[in-house]
Amino acid sequence: MAISLEDEYKQAQENPRKRRRFLRKVDLAEARSYVRRVRYCPENVLSYLGDKRINFVMTTDQNLFGIIRPTITIYPIAFSPGAHPRLDDFLSTLIDHEGYHARLEYEGDPTTLLTGAIGNNWEEELKVHDYQLRQMDKRNCSDLHRKLTETNREIYNQLLSPRETPEVCLS
Ligand SMILES: [Zn+2]
Repeated sequence: MAISLEDEYKQAQENPRKRRRFLRKVDLAEARSYVRRVRYCPENVLSYLGDKRINFVMTTDQNLFGIIRPTITIYPIAFSPGAHPRLDDFLSTLIDHEGYHARLEYEGDPTTLLTGAIGNNWEEELKVHDYQLRQMDKRNCSDLHRKLTETNREIYNQLLSPRETPEVCLS
């Protein structure tokens, strides 16, 4: 009997050696035409966003001119129950988030071209998080995943428009 993708995901969560095989079985659906390949990186990468330390769960490489379709990289933390407890949580980030980044990069979206040129992609992140949240109703995502996505959207929103310190007048 064929094993379901749900079960393959559970096995991949528990056993890192089953992750590449699981990724080969994932159908990227509407993101298929924008993604060159999905690769697994066995080491987590710590990065900084402003002064916040962050672990990327997945990343899409930049391609400003739409010549080569972008590659999506998956890090081990993407398989953790604290990030994507359910298969649909994982697919939400892979297809609806990274797949949408890949589409914007490949199609040369004006937001992507502009913000990519000045070194950050926060506007693109907002656009992508909004798209991902809109698609969530079609998926069986966990409350945790929805909350994390909303929190991350807010982080990018604040980076994009930092709250002004109110002016004070003292005497
Ligand atoms: Zn993103």
